[in-house]
Amino acid sequence: MTIFVLGLDGASNENLEHAFTRTHLPNFKSILGAGSRRSLVSVYPYVTAPAWASMFSGVNPGKHGVFDMFQLKNDTLHPPNLRNSDVPFLWDYLSWAGKRVLILGIPFIHPAPEVNGIFVTGRFVPRMTFFPEETHSLLGASGYEYNEPWNKGRVKKNRTEEVNRLGRNEFGERLLADLERRITTSTRLLDRERWDVAVLVESLPDEVFHLCYENAAMVDRTWLLVDRLVGEVRARMKDDDAFFIVSDHGFSDVDRVLYINYWLRANGYLYPKSMKVPSAVSTVASGILGALRGRGGRHRPRVALEGSVDETERELGADDSLHAVLKTPHPRTSVIALNDNEQVSWLRLIESRTTTEVLRSDLEKLRQSGAIKNVFGATELYSGKHVAEAIGQITIEAQDGTVISTSLSHKGLFRRISGKQGGHRLHGVLVCEGVDSRHLRTNPTVMDILPTILQMLKLPLPDYLDGRPLVDLMSGSS
Ligand SMILES: [Zn+2]
Repeated sequence: MTIFVLGLDGASNENLEHAFTRTHLPNFKSILGAGSRRSLVSVYPYVTAPAWASMFSGVNPGKHGVFDMFQLKNDTLHPPNLRNSDVPFLWDYLSWAGKRVLILGIPFIHPAPEVNGIFVTGRFVPRMTFFPEETHSLLGASGYEYNEPWNKGRVKKNRTEEVNRLGRNEFGERLLADLERRITTSTRLLDRERWDVAVLVESLPDEVFHLCYENAAMVDRTWLLVDRLVGEVRARMKDDDAFFIVSDHGFSDVDRVLYINYWLRANGYLYPKSMKVPSAVSTVASGILGALRGRGGRHRPRVALEGSVDETERELGADDSLHAVLKTPHPRTSVIALNDNEQVSWLRLIESRTTTEVLRSDLEKLRQSGAIKNVFGATELYSGKHVAEAIGQITIEAQDGTVISTSLSHKGLFRRISGKQGGHRLHGVLVCEGVDSRHLRTNPTVMDILPTILQMLKLPLPDYLDGRPLVDLMSGSS
């Protein structure tokens, strides 16, 4: 039996349905006819790094320690690297059990880990790496060199600069050309042997959504290419094989901005004289986050010059200046918001100046007014030894269709967005084929995929997993 897993960054039932109304997607249509579909619940915050980390570890961010697209350690921002996590990942369990694995396109992991098979890294790594290294030149992994387009001419360019130089549509064309090359690479590697588990993580549609959400033709072409990849996988399925299409989070329309710093100032948590401080924080943060997410960042993250940073940090940039900024805010500022244009924002408290109870009771009023949807404490969202490493002690979630901004200049809590824009959503998609759908659970989460695969391969499920198998065989037999 082979278990195929296709990860589609940013795919959801909603955006897939939109694609269906405009485009014929024959392979999606076939698998939806043969299999079953669910919403797949992501983790908070629903961004790429913690969501895929939870998908491939089966545990929540409090256990794997990846909370966002960046990590805050000693008040300094670092890009996360799954190699630094102390939990095993899917490829570890499978390799230990002697299963043959093909793992392609995993983001935020560098260098490629040793597996019983082949591993090729994905986005948000300093450069593509391949395991086994010596076979790279033999096998090739064209399309997975995510840093290549802005790495030409020896000078590594900021992706944002490259998007500005080429224009978004031309950059989008490159993304589609890269996907075509990845389809060729993936099918060639799929055909090398009969794998026990083959995982293909695709950075689209999310990358195209972020870049040209308003460009319906480009979005449709993205879905057509993804549909071709679905078809290539299905063409290789034998009777006892299974196929899962999963996403890390959804993506949908956004029409409003919530200015959380306006509210923090109005409620005495943030002081005007400290404007330099939080704006410096948000500038540094948005520069790093923008570079990591490939949009919006105006500043190339500065490279840490000293200290023991690993290669990922040197390449992607860790900024020492944030250390000073977070350590020396205005003496009355007690809360700093850290986010980058998402529906969810961290609120980081200076705990000597306020308490989570005080802030929460004020935020509760904001929630009751309908301005935000949810307020969570870190211990409500997470469990495990890394909970204290969460970026903020409190997480706020705006209403669907609203993104949170940390800008200080806007006078007022909200602003309407004109034109079509989009943002991440909590609910992604799960499509399964070759799985007993009669007992498929109704509210699966990204953490359920790993235990499901282990169960299907009759491997033991460790007690510390947070996810549960999608098909509850025990209840099915009773
Ligand atoms: Zn993502």
